[in-house]
Amino acid sequence: MSMKNQNLKNLMESLTYLDLMTLRNDLEKGGMATRTLVESKIRKKEEILNRKCAVCTAPLHKEGTFYTLEFGDKDVRKKMSFCGLDCLEYFTQILKDIQKEEIENERC
Ligand SMILES: [Zn+2]
Repeated sequence: MSMKNQNLKNLMESLTYLDLMTLRNDLEKGGMATRTLVESKIRKKEEILNRKCAVCTAPLHKEGTFYTLEFGDKDVRKKMSFCGLDCLEYFTQILKDIQKEEIENERC
């Protein structure tokens, strides 16, 4: 493989001798660890690129303004983004209604 990509060349330059030995060791065994690492990185990048408003599914651009709500307890922490305050408000209203229902159900 010829390395035409400058970023990849730079990445290789930044690796230590030990890093390179680890990488070669993995590649000799089929490269599964390297592949897993690359795949998970790709998924994370795609998540950011494909970010959409949780209410109206409008695409959210990294450079533009949007709102992100992180909620739930530590076991089921959720993160959702919204294109504007209207969508955020709509969503928090749903959350409020759900909480109200839960409280009312507990009283019964
Ligand atoms: Zn929206």
